[in-house]
Amino acid sequence: MSLATKLSLGLAACTLALPAFAEEVNLYSYRQPELLKPLTDAFTAETGIKVNVAYLQKGMVERLQAEGARSPADLVFTVDISRLHSIVDAGLTQPVTSETLKANVPAAYHDPDGNWWGLTTRARIIYASKERVADGEITTYEGLADPKWKGRICTRSGTHAYNVALTSAMLHHHGEDATKAWLEGIKANLARKPQGNDRAQVKAIWAGECDIAIGNTYYMGNMLADEEQKAWAESVNVLFPKFESGGTHVNISGVAMTKSAPNPENALKMMNFLTSPKAQEIYALGNFEYPIAPGTKADPLVASWGSFEADSVNLMDLAKLRKDAIKLIETVDFDG
Ligand code: FE
Repeated sequence: MSLATKLSLGLAACTLALPAFAEEVNLYSYRQPELLKPLTDAFTAETGIKVNVAYLQKGMVERLQAEGARSPADLVFTVDISRLHSIVDAGLTQPVTSETLKANVPAAYHDPDGNWWGLTTRARIIYASKERVADGEITTYEGLADPKWKGRICTRSGTHAYNVALTSAMLHHHGEDATKAWLEGIKANLARKPQGNDRAQVKAIWAGECDIAIGNTYYMGNMLADEEQKAWAESVNVLFPKFESGGTHVNISGVAMTKSAPNPENALKMMNFLTSPKAQEIYALGNFEYPIAPGTKADPLVASWGSFEADSVNLMDLAKLRKDAIKLIETVDFDG
């Protein structure tokens, strides 16, 4: 066993404090403790099953691979279809399904084979200056490439997972040539080289460096809740663009069961619980996201940004286009 493997097993053991309870379930999560804690507490209260969580910053695939069949992890939590897909692609998950999962998770938001299940969505939208962008000036993703925006757009790196997924959606709708032209058009419209995170783009609008930016919806909530960033948020409107032939691009947070799950029954119970309307509303509210179970509602603040029709493409189809999307983003030297 390599030192790295021993270290990672040692870390897993001490983080999870195994195995003290007969009924338990073990989670590896890229999502923050403040998001998961209310849910894991509610799950334990309802079922008596203890939940152990290892919060990871990175390296989930490598860790699961190093641990192999001895991994304590039952479930993995992450955001973004590409991250979910990379865990599936590495052969680290197992397909699961249930009547509850099928009833609560719309078809677009789970793997048809059951290797991953979505829990919440977030839309990738346009933040527009309240002062410098009029109502109705931009309504589509295709419109971002219009020369009228020359020198007026800010965005994070084209190769960030969020922009790769958006580009994959463009590929899905319009094919390679049109997507390449679209990327070149946006690049020609940028006020500055891609840099920073989504919130940094809204800050740049506030500072007058650009007029529109691409970003995820929940950052509006995060900025409004932050003393310093509130002014940035208040300088913009949230616009929900659509694809000309589709809806608004959304991505998900989701969950997958590991191939080696030591507690698969408890893990499935937890998955069922997480997709229940009650749990989804708690989870979505924690990060200003959208619950996906039929009949659930977004928090009033989130709902106040506007309503939209999500693109109906299955996210698995976008995951399959990921490599092609990255190739095009690099071909046009989007970040250069
Ligand atoms: Fe994010």
